[in-house]
Amino acid sequence: MHEWALAEAVISSLSEITRKKGLRKIKGAYILLGEMQNIDRKVFRFAVRELTKNKKPFDGFTLNIKNEKTTLKCRSCGNEWTFSFSSKMPEDYLEAIHFIPEVSHVYIKCPKCGSRDFEIVKGRGVWIKSVKGVR
Ligand SMILES: [Zn+2]
Repeated sequence: MHEWALAEAVISSLSEITRKKGLRKIKGAYILLGEMQNIDRKVFRFAVRELTKNKKPFDGFTLNIKNEKTTLKCRSCGNEWTFSFSSKMPEDYLEAIHFIPEVSHVYIKCPKCGSRDFEIVKGRGVWIKSVKGVR
């Protein structure tokens, strides 16, 4: 369900871009997926395909997806670090982070000062990086 909701959001943004730029056709888009979103790409692609079916501007549309690493920034000391899911945390913790990013505050702390007060700088959302279209 998560994938479908995201696909819908991406497509409505793309439709808006198409309208705003006055494109007749949208041939492709480059999307960055934050690692913390834990998206099943297969499901996501399928959802995008289904949702763009029979929609004229999306005829022949291709999607490029790239993962973006998660960068965290400590609010206490300003330290920035890249969080990797291969680090030694129990599996069920990782699931919690993927599902609700806010939960990560319970499990992760700043490697420099130990504070749990940090923000997620990168790797959290879904970004449309570029769009290829025909005017
Ligand atoms: Zn810190």
